[in-house]
Amino acid sequence: MTYAQMLALARSKLAPREYSSHFSAGYVSAVLEGANGRYYTGVNLDLACGLGFCAERNAASTMVTDGETAVRRIVCVGADGQLMTPCGSCREFLFQLSPENAAAEFLVEEDPPRVKKLAEFLPDPWQK
Ligand SMILES: [Zn+2]
Repeated sequence: MTYAQMLALARSKLAPREYSSHFSAGYVSAVLEGANGRYYTGVNLDLACGLGFCAERNAASTMVTDGETAVRRIVCVGADGQLMTPCGSCREFLFQLSPENAAAEFLVEEDPPRVKKLAEFLPDPWQK
């Protein structure tokens, strides 16, 4: 899948929904390519009291359920379809899933495509 195809898939999964006064979802969407060559999608889940999680971690959790921990590429978009970069929690989460994920590429610009590696977002890992 090309980055353009991953971006189209991520945008197709956007579906902002207000389920209740304390639960909304689908404002952010992510597509992740695992090292196994499979693609995983996820949307954000926002719940009251600080519960919930980001689209990237939603997609990565499904990947881990599938037995994979290493990520090759990630595309993430916000409610307007614009590219987003991972928050600090997602950066750390992905790095802790596998040290291989330091080389995972995030699409940061659409046209022309430009990527940044997770290691560029986490230049000084705390682990020894
Ligand atoms: Zn995040």
